[in-house]
Amino acid sequence: MSPSADSVPDPLEVFPELREFGRPALLLNPRLSGRALTPRDSSVGGPLLWPADAPWPTCSLAHLVKLPEPPGTEEVVFDEPVALQPVLQLFARDLPEGWSLPEGAAVLQVLWCPNEHAETPESFGNLFAPSIAIRWWHGTGLADPLEDPPVPHTRDPSYDLSGCPGGTLTPESTVDHPSVFALPDSLADRIRAWEEETGAVGRYIDDTASLSGLKLGGHPSWGVTDPFPMHCAECGTDLEHLLQIDTISLGETLIFLGRGYSLSVYRCPTSLAHPHRVNIQ
Ligand SMILES: [Zn+2]
Ligand SMILES: [Zn+2]
Repeated sequence: MSPSADSVPDPLEVFPELREFGRPALLLNPRLSGRALTPRDSSVGGPLLWPADAPWPTCSLAHLVKLPEPPGTEEVVFDEPVALQPVLQLFARDLPEGWSLPEGAAVLQVLWCPNEHAETPESFGNLFAPSIAIRWWHGTGLADPLEDPPVPHTRDPSYDLSGCPGGTLTPESTVDHPSVFALPDSLADRIRAWEEETGAVGRYIDDTASLSGLKLGGHPSWGVTDPFPMHCAECGTDLEHLLQIDTISLGETLIFLGRGYSLSVYRCPTSLAHPHRVNIQ
């Protein structure tokens, strides 16, 4: 950061009314661990503690596969079921003090189909991203884990975590603030003007709001579209931001979700059994 930016006051000091919009967030900070991960580790791209008697999830959507010739070709070529791939496992016991998983869940698991889908049932329109599955377990049923989970037979290299050794998580508790697009117009305008006038462009927009990274809770990114209402498809309740996946950087594995955009997963606060939804910004 430049000396001039350093001398600019904290936007939360200049605009104390921003504090009421702050939401707890957990930056998960994935890193290569240097050791073999086990199904009992919280991890990115590591093995899951999956009950041996539970069916492994698959994706049966139409897949957009990039063909080698001619360059840039994309075509729907198959919809045979694809086994999903582990992306994230987060045990409640590994969360910082004061944090818990909803409904007292013991573990959150995120899997995806590492291929491109034009539109998934959980998206709000065009997605062009992996299809995501969310699982919550409550401790029971985890005593007899599946040892040899199926692997997806087709994987887009842009999303494939199968060659990756997996990474450990170092959750960091923080407070996240809304994108300027999700703030009241008058406040957003004053923040933009302040950034321009003080030469600290990005001080709020990039450094304070909708923090980037693999993130639990907090605020989603906006900007590709204006914010729009998000309701549970089952009960109509307003959805909560559960998880953001933008990049996953682990050694030689580098996943840029949605070509550098940010994929947010939303959940219904009424019930973990209600369907999640996703949005890319
Ligand atoms: Zn799929
Ligand atoms: Zn619901």
